[in-house]
Amino acid sequence: MSQQAITILGSTGSIGVSTLDVICRHPDRYRVFALCAHSQVDKVFEQCLAVQPTYAVVRDAALADDLAQRCRAAGLATEVRYGVSALVEMAAHPAVDAVMAAIVGAAGLEPTLAAARAGKKVLLANKEVLVMAGELFMDAVKTHAAVLLPVDSEHNAIFQSLPGDFARGLSACGVQKILLTASGGPFRTTPLADLAAVTPEQACAHPNWVMGRKISVDSATMMNKGLEVIEARWIFDAAPETIQVVVHPQSVIHSAVQYSDGSVLAQLGHPDMRTPIAYALAWPERIDAGVAPLDLFKIAHLDFYAPDFDRFPCLRLAYEVLASGGTAPAILNAANEVAVAAFLDGQLPFLGIAQLNAAVLAALPAGPEGNLADVLAADAEARQRAHRMLQERRFT
Ligand code: NAD
Ligand code: MG
Repeated sequence: MSQQAITILGSTGSIGVSTLDVICRHPDRYRVFALCAHSQVDKVFEQCLAVQPTYAVVRDAALADDLAQRCRAAGLATEVRYGVSALVEMAAHPAVDAVMAAIVGAAGLEPTLAAARAGKKVLLANKEVLVMAGELFMDAVKTHAAVLLPVDSEHNAIFQSLPGDFARGLSACGVQKILLTASGGPFRTTPLADLAAVTPEQACAHPNWVMGRKISVDSATMMNKGLEVIEARWIFDAAPETIQVVVHPQSVIHSAVQYSDGSVLAQLGHPDMRTPIAYALAWPERIDAGVAPLDLFKIAHLDFYAPDFDRFPCLRLAYEVLASGGTAPAILNAANEVAVAAFLDGQLPFLGIAQLNAAVLAALPAGPEGNLADVLAADAEARQRAHRMLQERRFT
């Protein structure tokens, strides 16, 4: 079996670390071509020692010098690069077979798009790419015959529950509904009056999953599920009204597909991202992910509830921007990145996240999605507007 060369965008994050865990279980199948991270040089260096990549990429020249010196001193041949152009180069490099897109937020858009345009196997965790530029990205996948494998656990479950030829159309395949499950996050049953005072630590304490801080806050507001509705719309070319959010607090069913004959096919598993990562890496084969077998007797109960749009207004906003189309989802995504960062920084109360998102959307008209420059311009304008509203406290 020939080894596949992998670029990991976001190697130091939660998904990046889980990806390396799976890769290191299968040295016969995979080798790391490039490790790409932002500013955690200590962690990247440790990873370089462990997997000896051909390249490592960090944020800027000073960090790159530091990392390069350490690599040389350790006798590693790893070449160190920096900046967005290096991310793009590593994603599109001719020697690369597959790219794990696991940068958080809009910063991942350009390299992930570059991977699609280079016809790579794209393992997509970075859902913000599809929220910002779904049409553009899916066009690039088709035009350049890239292979898109969803890593987000719900989309990976849907992918596993659909027939292999689902690209011919969901209704032609007898699909009636996509059942997108959601845990409901840490505040599913918190009295509404208490939500105003929740802290970043409480918001990041997800009941089932251990994740990066941005997606943890998104899970607490259910913005994450909203972003995932948009993600599902693009990956599966699904009409928004066929995507049903199902609150399922145990996070055992990772999502399901309902068919016209009454069947519902689902994928179940532990809430451990190594399962969808291993599936995406090895597809269409299956490999050991280091995840224990599921014990249904221990689980015993599975519960399901309808989503509460009043408790989670961000979820409603996501359906609204999906209906508006064009740059509206990119505007929401940008506002939300600013709002979540401000919340994590103690500058915005928890309930302010949805308020700021709604205010930015109301202030900025959406244009057509157009090309990458149009998307990046909408993103920049929405960030600017969100920052100004935050400063002036003009969003409630
Ligand atoms: P994280 O915060 O743990 O890690 C983010 C990674 O991105 C880090 O390696 C960081 O160095 C890198 N990064 C951040 N900004 C960057 C920049 N400007 N340039 C280059 N690199 C940058 O995040 P995570 O939880 O691993 O999530 C990553 C993505 O995967 C997100 O889009 C998230 O929504 C998605 N996702 C995560 C999970 C999960 O379980 N963690 C599940 C599903 C989807
Ligand atoms: Mg998910």
